[in-house]
Order: sequence, then structure tokens, then C-alpha cells
Amino acid sequence: MRFAVLGLFHEANTFSPVKADRDMFAAGGILRGEQIVDQYADSGATIGGYLEGGARAGVEIVPLVFGFVNPAGAITSDVFESVVGEMLEALRDNGPWDGVLLNVHGAAVAEGFLDADGEIASRVRAVVGAELPVGAVLDLHANVSRRLVDALTITLVYQTNPHVDAAEKGIRCVDLLARTASGEIRPVQELVRLPLVVNIARQDTAERPMSSLVAKAERVAARPGMLSASVVEGFPYADVPDMGMSCLAIHDGDRSTARAAVEELALEVWNEREELQAHGLDVDAALDAAEHEAGAPVVLLDVGDNIGGGAPGDSTAILEAVCKRGLRSLAQTLWDPESVRQCESAGVGNEVSLCVGAKLEHSAGSPVAVRGTIRVLADGHFEESGAVHGGFRYFDMGPTAVVDTTDGHTLVLTSKPIMNSSLRQFLSVGVDPRDYHIVVAKGVNSPRAAYTPIAAKMVVVDTDGVTAMNLGRFTYQHRRRPMFPFESTTFDIGESR
Ligand SMILES: [Zn+2]
Repeated sequence: MRFAVLGLFHEANTFSPVKADRDMFAAGGILRGEQIVDQYADSGATIGGYLEGGARAGVEIVPLVFGFVNPAGAITSDVFESVVGEMLEALRDNGPWDGVLLNVHGAAVAEGFLDADGEIASRVRAVVGAELPVGAVLDLHANVSRRLVDALTITLVYQTNPHVDAAEKGIRCVDLLARTASGEIRPVQELVRLPLVVNIARQDTAERPMSSLVAKAERVAARPGMLSASVVEGFPYADVPDMGMSCLAIHDGDRSTARAAVEELALEVWNEREELQAHGLDVDAALDAAEHEAGAPVVLLDVGDNIGGGAPGDSTAILEAVCKRGLRSLAQTLWDPESVRQCESAGVGNEVSLCVGAKLEHSAGSPVAVRGTIRVLADGHFEESGAVHGGFRYFDMGPTAVVDTTDGHTLVLTSKPIMNSSLRQFLSVGVDPRDYHIVVAKGVNSPRAAYTPIAAKMVVVDTDGVTAMNLGRFTYQHRRRPMFPFESTTFDIGESR
């Protein structure tokens, strides 16, 4: 058997002013053929699982085209049409196929397509015809549309956050697709979309209520004839009609059993709706907590500037307040290519005066004036060998400058916004976050695997920004109404069919 692998993987924050455009894709990557193997073989990412699954099932896996960028705003239409066009052309030219494996996120938005993943899957379906098995593994943050599921034969979803099971789900997807292609199984899928949003601070699958919901999905999936059951968190920072939580169930041949399973799971999710909400401390209350903590470091999770959720990583909301209070000993990264260039002209060991961060129109906070000494200039590449969010291994911050400020802080200024998901990000440029009283980590879930082991205290901070935890800060145009917790609402499972 031969399975094609293709995809365009993007989590779109429609509130972000930064579009996923040609420049961003040029830097992030459009990989073809063997380049995909080089990048992803033996990795913890979905494609790593597809390759491994093919080896185990005796299926030839043929990677064609894969586009990827870090979370940002919508994909521009020129990039969308050119990448998807190239994908489809490669699919037509290199067949015949026994199956297709898609690597899409599930929360992509492109200019003109609020459901970009549904659009991609439908176009793939149109090329390969109604009968060919097509499988996909979606991110747990997918805003799953009926159109997407209808175009797919098998839809699996990560069930961990931080996402550490992408490869495992990829292997499973190949297995199910191969058994479908051989006629051994006949998957039927059922979807329920809930009028419900889970707060970003309640998405950790190691903690209740998500831990019990994922466990419930596992029990449902283990029943006779069931092939899969998934609970999906959704991505509230995409203002689209399909935004929200959902559940999926796949049964071998019996639609009514799949339906009963998915409805049972969805009702369990709905019953946890209050528990799925959260409130954090505002910046002042978080700094009070940090000041009263004797141990170090206190890790402040800057939720509004969550790089993994599509924020630019340039917010100074916490830094500004720390400077205003006269606190010392803070370490953080800050996306600020302009300040990096100023440091490069000044040179290592020299003093600089900078105005750092918050340079975009929609940035949270304001640029902060600092004086300091340039400790390090680096190319910004680092490697994380441990299991971190999404299974990523190689990181590139672009040209990077480390500045020790006169008021006792250390700023790691980067040319690209890179998630704070690995301690190597600091250690690779000679900064040990354990030496500071306050460490700002931009994110809420992605920093935990790296920072929990070193933190005296972790504080979730309800900061402003395009990934704010208080969703009341956003104006939605396209989401469904009513939805909990925006509106009080009931949930009629019969109407979800
Ligand atoms: Zn995700």
C-alpha cells in the first residue's frame, strides 16, 4: 500500500494583527518530499508518527508537501492558494494511492475561508474521490467543523495538553487507515459540537476536569467495535462559526453506536461546563504574590501574550509593572528585532539604551525604556532533547541579544517569537532562570513542562493581549450564539445532530 502525506498546519488567532504571510512561511517552512522525512523522522510530531506507523504496518509513506508556521493570524490568500494548489497537484501527479494522511491543525483560518481545514480536506476529497480512505490527526485545539469530518474517513485528535501524544496518534491513524483500505474495518464517524468554550487555564489534561473527560473518552473508545473517541478543546481565539469544544466518536460499521457514544461523551463535557472556566490574578495581585514568596523563581504565566496561541511575544504588561514598582531580578524573553539590531551595532560588553517591546499597534503594554550591558549576542538556535509541547526539537529565535539592565533584570531579546516551552531557550544563551526572583513565561500550558520543576511558585496572570484568558476582552463577529460562558444557555443534544 502507498499513502500520501500532505498538509498545511496552522493555528489561527484571528485577533492577532500579524498575518501568516509569504515571509512567515518562508521562515517557518514549506517542506517537500525528503525534506519532510529529514525534519520529522523519529520526531514526536504527527508526521513522525505517520512515518513510524507506515514502517510498522508495511505501508509505503510518501510525503509530498507540508507547510507550517507558528500560530499567528489568518493565512493570506496568496499563500493558501499556492500551498494548497501545490499539495493537490502533487497528489494528482504521484498516484495512484491507497490512502491519504493529512496533517492539519483544525483551527486554521485563511483569508476568505473561516474553515480553512474543511476547505483543504474537501479539495483533497474532490481529487481522490469519495471512496479513498483519508485520515487526519487534529490538534486538541481544533475547532472541528462538520465539513472537515465529512471529508475525512478517520479523524483522530491529540488527547494531551501539553501535546505529547501527536506521534502516537499518527501511528494509530496509519493503522486504522490501512485496515480501512484493506476492507478489514468500515469506520463511521459522529461529531457533536458543543456551545461551550474551555478557558485556556483549564486545558491541562493532567488536571481535572480535562483529565476525567479524557479518561471518559478512553473508556468509551475501549468498548467493542469502537475505533476511537475524542474530546476536543477547541481554540477560542479564532472568531469562527465552528469555534468551541466538540466530541468525536468512530465505530466500525454501526452509526447508531457511534452516535450514542459521542452523545454520552458530549453530555459529560457539558456537565463540567462550570469547572471548565477560570479566572487569574491581575498583574498587581500577581506581583504581590511574587513579592511575598521567599523562594525563587516565581514563574509568572503571561496568558495574554501566549506565543503558542498566536500572540506576538512582545508584551511588556508585566515588565512595565515590575519596573514601576522598582522590583529587581526579573528574566524574560521579548520579541523585538529592532532592539536586537541596536545591540548588534553596539557590540558585546557595551552599554545600550533601548526602548524594548510592544512596538505593534495591538501590542499589550508600552515600550519600556531600559539601560543595560549586552552580555551575549547569539544566532538564537537551540535544541531541546526532552519531551516538550508538540514534540518540537529544533528552535530558532533568530539573532538574539541578552541584556543585563541597570535595575537588575535580564532580557533575552529575540528576532522571532518562540514559545517559552524549553529551559534551553535561556540556558543556550548563558542565562539560568533559577538565578532570578521573577521569570515571565509567555503562555499558560506550553511553559509548564519546562518551568514547573524549577519554580518555587507558578502564577497564572490575567494579562491583556490577543490570547487573554478573560474572553470578555474580545469582540466576536462569527462565533455561534448563545455559547457558554458568554451567554447562559441550555444544550439540546438532539439539535446537535
Ligand atoms: Zn494545540
